[in-house]
Amino acid sequence: MDLLEHQGKAYFARFGVPVSTGAVAATADEAVAAADAAGYPVVVKAQVHVGGRGKAGGVRVAGDGDEARRAASEILGMSISGHVVRAVLVERASDIAAEYYASFTLDRSAKLHLGLLSARGGVDIEQVAAEAPAAIARLHVDPVDGLSDEECRAWVARAGLAPEAEDGVAALVGRLYRCYVDGDADLVEVNPLALTGGGDVVALDAKVTLDDNAAFRHPEWEEFLGTEVVDDRERLAREKGLQYVGLDGTVGIIANGAGLAMSTLDVVNQVGGDAANFLDIGGGASAAVMANALEVISTDDNVRAILVNVFGGITRGEEVANGIVEALGRVQLVAPLVVRLDGTNAAEGRAILAGHESDRLVSRATMLDAARTAVELAAAGAGGGEG
Ligand code: GDP
Ligand code: MN
Repeated sequence: MDLLEHQGKAYFARFGVPVSTGAVAATADEAVAAADAAGYPVVVKAQVHVGGRGKAGGVRVAGDGDEARRAASEILGMSISGHVVRAVLVERASDIAAEYYASFTLDRSAKLHLGLLSARGGVDIEQVAAEAPAAIARLHVDPVDGLSDEECRAWVARAGLAPEAEDGVAALVGRLYRCYVDGDADLVEVNPLALTGGGDVVALDAKVTLDDNAAFRHPEWEEFLGTEVVDDRERLAREKGLQYVGLDGTVGIIANGAGLAMSTLDVVNQVGGDAANFLDIGGGASAAVMANALEVISTDDNVRAILVNVFGGITRGEEVANGIVEALGRVQLVAPLVVRLDGTNAAEGRAILAGHESDRLVSRATMLDAARTAVELAAAGAGGGEG
């Protein structure tokens, strides 16, 4: 689960990571009240689940109430990478002397935690990694050993920060590590981590991804669920335990396995179509799972055709085919279904589908054929204005 900046900062604050004082506002009036309370100058920041807000005009400094009102009115309602801004964070603005970067995440291949620290903050860290990898001080942390104060200081010394920032940053990263580990996060990232003119070190941005697997021991995470701004389709998919990402096209996609789902998107693109979503149903393709997947896809008004691409493995072709047929009996389809079945017992599966073929259910032997048919049906459906 990804937190909004203000939620991430509240999470940081619980672990003693310094953040600016501020409040969330959903209207321009609330923003002015929050700004008056924080004291000017303030920074007004769009609260959306994407980065790059600064570049998109979603972060503005305001020197008085009028400016704060104008900034909030302009930011509220704006769309940043497709995310509509419903709330702003209004904080006392910091006077920035330097912008750094700090993060912790899991390095799966090393089976260790990985800390990144850089004097080049405030910009895209991927860009720094590509252009000047030496500008990022990396630190692997064994979860059993943890991270000592001495190690924090040595790490900070390697990062080449301003000398007056070192003590504050060393203390901050120690607390950030506790937040990451004890807070059960998959990622904590501070960009920028600012050194202020007064010599303080403060987290000016917060990106926190909580580990959903740990939700059972954090009843307090409940508060984040309500405010999490997710696409309705994605919410339903999550409730049903499906890996779903909503997209803008007209061809709904269901595949088993993330790799196959990605390839299906590519093939649909290749034949001139656009995917309405990415949906990985995982290993099993039972009737229940298939019905859930079809139900989620059917909530998307843009879908004009549905492409099911399943490679039978442990789940055999006839089980998949029976699952699809049974699911069709349970779900009201919004668009015709094109099925490509391959792998274990694919022929048996296709024979079952053949017995149920209609203008709503079409079976194709290859991925390319299936994608072509789905894209054609989608184009026809869009032309006919059919729902
Ligand atoms: P992002 O673009 O979505 O990562 O949003 P950030 O929270 O990182 O803000 C973008 C930029 O706004 C930062 O890199 C800073 O340069 C600037 N900014 C953020 N907070 C403050 C602040 O308190 N004071 C000043 N002067 N600038 C700020
Ligand atoms: Mn940032």
